[in-house]
Amino acid sequence: MKTSIHSLFIFFIIFFIVLCFFDSTILSFGKKMGEQKAKETHILTIPVPAQGHINPMLQLSKRLASKNLRVTLVTTTSSRFTIQGLAETSSIKIEPISDGFETGVTLQNADEYSKRFRVVFPQSLAKLVEKYECSGCPVKFIVYDSAIPWMLDVARGFGLDGAPFFTQPWAVNAIYYHFHHGKLEFPVKGSVVSLPAMPPLGIDDLPSFISEPGSYPSFLDAVLNQFSNIHEPKWTLCNTFLELEDEVVNFMASKCPIQTIGPTIPSIYLDKRLQDDNDYGLSLFKPMTETCKTWLDSKEINSVVYVSFGSLAALGEEQMEEIAWGLKRSNFFFLWVVREPEFAKLPRNFPEETSEKGLVVSWSPQLEVLAHKSVGCFLTHCGWNSTLEALSLGVPMVAMPQWTDQTTNAKFVEDVWQVGVRVRANEKRIVTREEIEICIKEVMEGERSKNIRRNTEKWKRLAKEAVDEGGSSDKNLEEFVTQLLSS
Ligand code: UDP
Repeated sequence: MKTSIHSLFIFFIIFFIVLCFFDSTILSFGKKMGEQKAKETHILTIPVPAQGHINPMLQLSKRLASKNLRVTLVTTTSSRFTIQGLAETSSIKIEPISDGFETGVTLQNADEYSKRFRVVFPQSLAKLVEKYECSGCPVKFIVYDSAIPWMLDVARGFGLDGAPFFTQPWAVNAIYYHFHHGKLEFPVKGSVVSLPAMPPLGIDDLPSFISEPGSYPSFLDAVLNQFSNIHEPKWTLCNTFLELEDEVVNFMASKCPIQTIGPTIPSIYLDKRLQDDNDYGLSLFKPMTETCKTWLDSKEINSVVYVSFGSLAALGEEQMEEIAWGLKRSNFFFLWVVREPEFAKLPRNFPEETSEKGLVVSWSPQLEVLAHKSVGCFLTHCGWNSTLEALSLGVPMVAMPQWTDQTTNAKFVEDVWQVGVRVRANEKRIVTREEIEICIKEVMEGERSKNIRRNTEKWKRLAKEAVDEGGSSDKNLEEFVTQLLSS
């Protein structure tokens, strides 16, 4: 009797070990098959070739590649992006194709550029898709910038499917959506606009293409056109995160399928899960990295105001002068990015005369700057990338919006997320030196400063959690990839 219980026991142990072995073999076989399928799934990602659009698309591409997909980011031969910090071993491939232009898109040539781009780019893309077909790694899917919604038809012409990627927040997209559907029209009536799932908006809080009718008609067309075929794709990816905009995202999710997948900031600043992802990697301008770093290293914690208006904004001479004297009057250290074409607008000898307090550079490694301990606040135009970067790195903002979505972003920075103060322009639409001085002082050391710093810590934590394993953005991306692989 004792012997038979003993043998039964040994039998069960052996049976259990064999079962575990098969189970794990099947599991790892299944995993390997899944990885193999992912590696064979080739996605093209197509940004609008401007710095503020390419950065988020590049980061989305890296995240998709980290889920084992094969990803090729398609740029244009005319945009002279230099590869800065994109490791040679990078998980994604960069493929420039012709857009029929000698030089890239600028504010001055934007209309002509977009007309020509629409004709030439699809032809070049057709050749690329064919090349991949012949070389045995056919394209399965195209993720395109939402500002070029016609790319969905181009993809379908190749027998492929696609999804738009919105590089502006849903607070802004929703306003365009309502305008597109006639809920808002020119001229905007009243002094306060009420839209579903949004705080009351003053006219100045609306995107400038709407608050200033006729200012950039072709850009207005472009942002409204994002919604011309929004019901068609199965996915609508967006560079934001759910916790940041939950009300408007949940409301808009009843209109179209929304996947928030941001913030698209290099992983080292957030979850640190992507190896070697320390920088964006493609840059139109050469950053003065060493100069900025050495200068910042010599300053005390939270003592510097970092100033940048992004890659496109061109301020008037009078406004530049007010900023210059506002910075000087604030008496804080400042690091100011003035792109080369803008340099002539600085007051004469300003960099030399203020060299004790300030450093003027033509382009900075912005993420490194924002992450530096000596930076105490960011005087920003509130471009969406800059805003998300400041939110993700916990840097308080002085919001000085110029145009497009920046006005709405500034409203949210000040009133909704409460991570900064917005400057107000005078009747001549100039932000005076006094106003700049007051706002900088308020953010650096004023009454609201403590609350602002508390909030920046909160959003920094939530941004990291969103992209980290199991966070809202990570889950959305995982789901997108799973659905793509099973379609
Ligand atoms: N940027 C940078 N160095 C600078 C200024 C800006 O690297 O000196 C980067 C910044 O980090 C952001 C992008 O350029 O990712 C600007 O995008 P944003 O949407 O803020 O503004 P835009 O240039 O589109 O107006």
